[in-house]
Amino acid sequence: MGFGPHRFLWKAIWKLDTIHKIRECPRCGAEYETLIHALKDCPTSWAILSIGGLENSTILKEYNCCIDWLEDMMRVLDKRAMADLMTTLWNSWNNKNNFIFRGKEDEAQLV
Ligand SMILES: [Zn+2]
Repeated sequence: MGFGPHRFLWKAIWKLDTIHKIRECPRCGAEYETLIHALKDCPTSWAILSIGGLENSTILKEYNCCIDWLEDMMRVLDKRAMADLMTTLWNSWNNKNNFIFRGKEDEAQLV
């Protein structure tokens, strides 16, 4: 199975999923900023995914880690939709890094 340009992101997720950051989410103040929180559960990410066309039921379902969620997504989404999701996550990821390093974040609607 290949993810083309998203292979890097996929690998990064595998790696980062095992790291549990013991710090607050800088965006919403949640107690722990885990990867699944940063990419899916944080209100900002949730807004991005929602605008990206992901159904609320798949966003609201809770997962312990990001890979579990993405593997679940692979079962329900077709190849094209999965590629779109990875692109959305990639943008969300970059957006998050911009927020941390530059202290600013674009409005979710602009992503
Ligand atoms: Zn958050």
